[in-house]
Amino acid sequence: MVVQTFTAKDYKTSVHNTWCPGCGDFAILNSVQNALVELQVPPHMVAVVSGIGCSGKSPHYINAYGFHTLHGRALPSATGVKLANPKLTVVAVGGDGDGFGIGAGYFINTGRRNVDMTYLVFDNQVYGLTKGQASPTMNKGDKAKGMAEAAVQDSVNPLALAISAGYTFVARGYALQPRSLAQIIAEAIRHRGTSFVDIMQTCPVYNDLHDKDWYGEKLDGRPRLYQLDDTDFDPVVHDPRDPEEIIAKKVQAIAKSYEWGARIPTGILYKLETSTYEDSMAAGRPRGMESVLDPNLTDRDLTRLIDALR
Ligand code: SF4
Ligand code: MG
Repeated sequence: MVVQTFTAKDYKTSVHNTWCPGCGDFAILNSVQNALVELQVPPHMVAVVSGIGCSGKSPHYINAYGFHTLHGRALPSATGVKLANPKLTVVAVGGDGDGFGIGAGYFINTGRRNVDMTYLVFDNQVYGLTKGQASPTMNKGDKAKGMAEAAVQDSVNPLALAISAGYTFVARGYALQPRSLAQIIAEAIRHRGTSFVDIMQTCPVYNDLHDKDWYGEKLDGRPRLYQLDDTDFDPVVHDPRDPEEIIAKKVQAIAKSYEWGARIPTGILYKLETSTYEDSMAAGRPRGMESVLDPNLTDRDLTRLIDALR
């Protein structure tokens, strides 16, 4: 039997890409495709689900099943895709405005479920598609070039939010470090449970505050960005049955997530191996859910399920 091996070109499409030249999204797209190469997931076993925004166009550029949904609705749609076909590798993608503004409620409640899927946020601190307004991750008082005035609201910390909400894999990556970003994304997809990766993304058109020079800057001889892998930071909960260790690792990760400025850590902040939503459903099997969890779902089963839910 010939073992098929997939290369990056197997995950690419010929759809014309409309991102601006120099956009950090290109590097993130390549990192996602390289992560899939590393994992050797066949394209027909991958589903990429997005919301609205520049990054929302990603499913068009990845050769896999794609679902470009409504603003802020990538996560509930991805949850539905995964529960309907648990064999698929499901990757939800979106921007910071889509995920932490319009989709904030879904962002929190997806963390509480721990469905086995991955959420990647292309975080550039602006609403790029609508010409650079401040998104929820823009710091209060900052003013990027598309904004009429400085941001008047405090920013949210998506990593701290994710850790509190229950995501079992939380990491930060940087678009322009594609090799380490691809590794983080591969680890996120490999993780059994909901993974969240906040990806610092350059938007050369609207974010002139945090551009590639700012991220690449050295201060006091030390690069602004550093990798947690190069330190003795340990994000892993070693005993998932020990609530004290879980809380200690969450506190450690949240403290690390607030390191932003002269030094910014990248890599995995928190990782917990525990039961997933699918495990809980399989154990409890509420009425009507049996066929959703059955990988051999047929049209007749689906009809029965819809009737049961009426
Ligand atoms: Fe990229 Fe910004 Fe252009 Fe959107 S507006 S495609 S985020 S450079
Ligand atoms: Mg954005």
